[in-house]
Amino acid sequence: MEQKQFQAESKRMLDLMIHSIYTHKEIFLRELISNASDAIDKLYFRSLTDENVGIGKDDFYIELIPDKEKRTLTITDNGIGMTAEELEQNLGVIAHSGSRAFKTENTLDENTDIIGQFGVGFYSAFMVAKRVTVRTRAYGADTAYVWQSEGVDGYTVDTCDKESVGTEIVLELLDDTDDEHYSEYLEEYRLRQLVKKYSDYIRFPIRMETSHQHPVEGKEGEYETHTEIETLNSMVPIWKKNKNELTDEEYNQFYHEKFMDYGDPLLHIHSRTEGTVTYNSLLYIPSKAPYDYYTKEYEKGLQLYASGVMIMEKCADLLPDHFSFVRGLVDSEDLSLNISREMLQHDRQLKLIAKALEKSIKNELAKLLKTDREKYTEFWKAFGIQLKFGVYHSFGANKELLQDLLLFHSSSCDSAEGYTTLSEYVSRMREDQKFIYYAAGDSVTRCAALPAAELVRDKGYEVLYLTEGVDEFAVQMIAQYADKQFKNVSAGDLGLESEEDKTALEEKTAESKDLFEEMQKALAGKVKAVRLSTRLKNHAVCLSSDGEISLEMEKVLRAMPTGGNVQAERVLELNPDHPVFAVLQRLLTEDKEKLAQYSDLLYQQALLIEGMQVEDPVALSKMICDLMV
Ligand code: ADP
Repeated sequence: MEQKQFQAESKRMLDLMIHSIYTHKEIFLRELISNASDAIDKLYFRSLTDENVGIGKDDFYIELIPDKEKRTLTITDNGIGMTAEELEQNLGVIAHSGSRAFKTENTLDENTDIIGQFGVGFYSAFMVAKRVTVRTRAYGADTAYVWQSEGVDGYTVDTCDKESVGTEIVLELLDDTDDEHYSEYLEEYRLRQLVKKYSDYIRFPIRMETSHQHPVEGKEGEYETHTEIETLNSMVPIWKKNKNELTDEEYNQFYHEKFMDYGDPLLHIHSRTEGTVTYNSLLYIPSKAPYDYYTKEYEKGLQLYASGVMIMEKCADLLPDHFSFVRGLVDSEDLSLNISREMLQHDRQLKLIAKALEKSIKNELAKLLKTDREKYTEFWKAFGIQLKFGVYHSFGANKELLQDLLLFHSSSCDSAEGYTTLSEYVSRMREDQKFIYYAAGDSVTRCAALPAAELVRDKGYEVLYLTEGVDEFAVQMIAQYADKQFKNVSAGDLGLESEEDKTALEEKTAESKDLFEEMQKALAGKVKAVRLSTRLKNHAVCLSSDGEISLEMEKVLRAMPTGGNVQAERVLELNPDHPVFAVLQRLLTEDKEKLAQYSDLLYQQALLIEGMQVEDPVALSKMICDLMV
């Protein structure tokens, strides 16, 4: 018979399996059982609409048959089976599902742990078997086929006899070594243990013929053996179990297997809801963002089950964008098994579920924020930015829902790790404080160093430090929190002066009117106005902005493909108490040309302070040198 070659990638995977020194080889059983269960699911699904299947839900099962004499372990199922083409396609080639492709890459890095966490499907059989034989008959087919392989050298396919529809997989176990006791996979207790550990929730019975010794009545010391067919799994999916029957470890284990994340989730939310719609849900918040989370490739969604049968792998409509990081599943008795994708989108039940889930995710996060700040901070670092986008999106439609989940750096949190919530900020506000102040910049250090931030702090007010591009947009969308408006320390009137201060400033401004006009002329096209500053203490100048768009927002918008020519209305502010101001006043009468040059110099300094780029660094440095000599 012709020996066929595995496809290259499959060969590498197989090679890895065969030479695996992985310590949890036992997971092969979980993988084969899960395939069997999928195959049964397919036929069961079919039986719902096709009378010819002729087999009811209660007739489906998986069987484990250990044979100590032959050293084989056989796993059978009466699922949908495989046609010759499917055999070739499925077992000769590694499936190219997204997760599988990712798994393969990583597994080939000798990252053996990934084997255990993600599972590697059918090929894991080769971790424990020297030869694997698959006999299968597809539903509706007259011919059965046998596939056989001893590993990397290839495989054969031939026809064979098989009465019933389904698949039988025979593993000829490897010989025992000093370190590995493959014979344990022939022991009843071990198989029972493995099924409990990994496959308990499989919906179909996993059966095994077990034997028990009983003392013979009336005959001391004599025993007889009874055999019975035992169902090893409880068949109750974890999400249908009672919360208090489950340990964190079981929740985590299920998460690893189901969602292919080998880190433990940050928290799980398990609930049963009865009412207009009845459903069980089990949601997880991962502790880290998946590698593709912030890319277009990431697909949000929850698994959707109708009465225990999975009908959709990723149902996007169940999760709002701001909670797109949530993983999990929903199982409802009120959904029809045959519902199509299009129908689902308009399904009222589904909308109700989605709304309820959104609320419960929000509540759980709020609870975490209250009870475990450290864990919440971990969550925030992974997904906080998503919540801030959520506040900004849809014209702030979700701001009420999300605003109390937001964290910000601030002048009251001493380290860069420290965060405050808006409500904590407000609780610390001074009695006379009108605004929630914030400074925007690339980093906490940068924000803290802004001259305007310094002034506000000196007044005893806390300043939020907004370090991410989306921050200011989110804050502007919130507009008001606890009746307090947000105020950028670098924009507009800070509301800090007393009436007297204001009058003094107006007088001084009137006195220097000519100076400002002259400077503005020199800075035509660069600033909208030159004026006296109320936000400067030690520095000579700063830049501020009028209008809706702040300097920081300008930076962000300009970095976007569509935001090319957005410009904040820049204002150059001067500190009247700084010695430089006196120099400028003198130059106004003595040397207008120099005044123009100085104006430019001060403007460029102000740009640098704001963390913005000067237009021509070479010209700037030449100007400074000219002034020095
Ligand atoms: P995965 O299950 O992740 O797709 P596997 O390598 O475990 O990858 O299996 C590859 C494919 O082989 C499955 O997708 C399925 O189509 C088919 N298959 C495996 N085992 C069975 C089985 N017991 N009955 C029917 N088809 C099977």
